[in-house]
Amino acid sequence: MKPQSTKPNGRIGIDLGGTKIEGVVLGPDNKPVFRQRIATESAAGYEHIVERIALLFERLRRAAPECDAVGIGTPGAISSRDGTMKNSNTACLNGRPLHADLSLRLGVPVRLENDANCFALAEALAGAGQGGALVFGVILGTGVGGGIVHHGEVLRGPQHLAGEWGHHCIDPSGPPCYCGQRGCVESFIAGPAVEAQYRARTGEAVRMPEIVARCRAGDGVATEVLRGFIERFGRALANVIDIIDPDVVVLGGGLSNIDELYTLGCDAVARYVFNDELRTPIRHNQLGDSAGVIGAALLV
Ligand SMILES: [Zn+2]
Repeated sequence: MKPQSTKPNGRIGIDLGGTKIEGVVLGPDNKPVFRQRIATESAAGYEHIVERIALLFERLRRAAPECDAVGIGTPGAISSRDGTMKNSNTACLNGRPLHADLSLRLGVPVRLENDANCFALAEALAGAGQGGALVFGVILGTGVGGGIVHHGEVLRGPQHLAGEWGHHCIDPSGPPCYCGQRGCVESFIAGPAVEAQYRARTGEAVRMPEIVARCRAGDGVATEVLRGFIERFGRALANVIDIIDPDVVVLGGGLSNIDELYTLGCDAVARYVFNDELRTPIRHNQLGDSAGVIGAALLV
């Protein structure tokens, strides 16, 4: 495990989102001692977002004057080739050298990491994955992502691809995905994908919590759709477990609140994993919405 911070009050993390930027100062036990949140105002453009981050950083720094580095979590991917942003839903970030610009503007070393990796790091060091040497953090919500943490460090890989299980194919005849492939995990088990499956069967546009509620109430179509969701979750996660054999899997994102993932979902993983038993614990996250910003702080 990574040694705990020796700084009395020194870790600053910032989580950049499309509508808000959240900042935190962690105490020596990795618990937040100061928090602040401001609007991203992303409509005002890229340079404005950099200024908003700088404003928040100055406020956080007043609570941690000895801080000499900052970790920042961001949606989207950071190109391993030139450090520019891509696939961010805050579109004005894409193609821009956010890491270089923030390092210059903030005047301290910046560690930038995508939000799934921040989630995995937070849960590994301060949440449900504590004690595990190899932790796979899963984001299951409007998209499907993930991050791998090994002995307290984010495993990025030379192409910054490590943990991106959402775009491996589980059925080449499956639905098309925005990434250009067909039958990606995300195109089957992300919330909007499951909602589309239900809509295709019933003509009804219903959100995921309602589909789950209808399944529990005995609705036939909802039950079939949920069964397919669980089955594909099991197949996809078993593939990951076969390859990296993590000590623990932690689920995050909106769909991680579906209780059936921890019962029927575990059974489905066990059916597909290359072993006669499944010993890998599959746990609900402990840090909830705070995982991103805590993970950002733990980057430094
Ligand atoms: Zn895809």
